[in-house]
Amino acid sequence: MIIKTDATASPVDVVIVGAGAAGLSAARELEESGLSVRVLEARARVGGRTECGQFSSGTAIELGGQWLGPTQDAALELAAELGLSTFQVHDEGKTLLFAEGLRREGTGDADDAFGLGADGSAAFARFVELVDETARSIDRASPWLSPEAKRLDSMSASEWVDANCEHELARRFAHVMLATIFAAESTEYSALHMLFYLSSGGGLHRMMTTIDGAQELRVEGGTHQISEKLAERIDSEIVLNAPVAKIEQSQSEEQYPVAVTAGGAQHHCKRVIVTAPPVIASRLDYEPPLPADRFTALSQMIPGDVIKFQIEYEKPFWREAGLNGTVLSLDHAVSLIYDNCVPSSDRGILVAFVEGHHAREFASMTENERARAVIGDLVHYFGHEAGEPLEVLQRNWTEEQYTRGCYGGRFGTGLWTTVGPKLAEPYGLIHWAGAETAQKWNGYIDGAITSGRRAAQEVVAALTEKPKPE
Ligand SMILES: Cc1cc2nc3c(=O)[nH]c(=O)nc-3n(C[C@H](O)[C@H](O)[C@H](O)COP(=O)(O)OP(=O)(O)OC[C@H]3O[C@@H](n4cnc5c(N)ncnc54)[C@H](O)[C@@H]3O)c2cc1C
Repeated sequence: MIIKTDATASPVDVVIVGAGAAGLSAARELEESGLSVRVLEARARVGGRTECGQFSSGTAIELGGQWLGPTQDAALELAAELGLSTFQVHDEGKTLLFAEGLRREGTGDADDAFGLGADGSAAFARFVELVDETARSIDRASPWLSPEAKRLDSMSASEWVDANCEHELARRFAHVMLATIFAAESTEYSALHMLFYLSSGGGLHRMMTTIDGAQELRVEGGTHQISEKLAERIDSEIVLNAPVAKIEQSQSEEQYPVAVTAGGAQHHCKRVIVTAPPVIASRLDYEPPLPADRFTALSQMIPGDVIKFQIEYEKPFWREAGLNGTVLSLDHAVSLIYDNCVPSSDRGILVAFVEGHHAREFASMTENERARAVIGDLVHYFGHEAGEPLEVLQRNWTEEQYTRGCYGGRFGTGLWTTVGPKLAEPYGLIHWAGAETAQKWNGYIDGAITSGRRAAQEVVAALTEKPKPE
């Protein structure tokens, strides 16, 4: 149920900050335990980092998170339960790689899937095996307790990659592949963060793969519907246009010791779950103020930079040329492309990502300039037909006031082993959820869902705890 801001709000057991996948999953879990809940959402819509865009043709298309894949059980089961159907993405044909000024065709099979050549392919395969083997040793519940945690946390992911991938082209490819996963340069997060994050999704191989990987499935009509349909099923109040500014915890014995201020109204409750992205959560006003280590954990979980483009064409012309639509480029701003056609339309759709330092360079351009630059790269990849799009949609997530970057956050060197334990640990009556706090599929929709449920279970346990005998 969605209502408007209510200045005379009555107290509830739990206030949830944010109506993304994490906040709505938490709300549902709490409701099922019989607790009263109010969700306060800053935006005029639910869904957070998942958002519906629409071409003029009427086709709905995702401006934010879109793919689901195997082992994302929470998201897949929730989508099915909400009556949403998934479809497998198109992946027939050759992949293109642009590197060192050359156009290379991947064979699509294990021998040379990406077009790195026999030696480059073998070196990259060895690198992926090593990453995944090392990632398996990471303690996902407590990354700071992993073997060699201090050493891995003291070096950047970039240093780790350079030390472990001897082939130059494979190494450059690895850095770009990682940038497509983290939306950040490998110099910007620690090796421990890289290994934790990849481990949370089942390894680099799974995360970078289309079929049998993180990019295998989409939801018919758009993945944002997971949040929209979840919101419809929830009986709790969901207050839109209600940016939370302050959370005050009282030390007294009153029944509702927490006051959450949003849009001029105060909402009193017993517990709060904050699901806003950590950097955004760090900027709220807390009383008592957050301790230094907690503030550092939130404020230093820095999101990546990504501008996502959806480009509609009359038809999927690349398929006729024997291409699957997947392009990786080490030479261009548009480093990653996929075929993004949907079953409800005959039109061709490509999704293009500008990530990391390229996204920061694009940030100062107008939307028209960005669109022209993207189409320029697409013409380079696919030929003149790519120069005649019907429409280009785009979203710069770093510009979004209540997100400030995507896909998820990252820790630079020295953070996991110092302030890492504070990221998800409750602070008094405040609990923390959101994709960045997940142990499985951290940074993904699946992780957001499980994080919301985990925080809700913490609250249920705390509120139903029997008083200790005198
Ligand atoms: C371009 C892009 C592509 C992605 N691709 C994929 C993908 O293919 N597959 C995948 O699984 N994941 C993908 N992701 C990541 C995925 O979308 C997120 O991990 C997930 O949606 C996060 O959910 P969340 O609930 O943790 O956070 P959010 O969705 O960020 O929800 C937090 C909510 O808090 C609200 N909020 C913020 N500040 C306040 C405040 N002060 N007061 C009240 N409310 C506030 C926000 O408006 C937001 O609604 C992608 C993300 C982006 C942006």
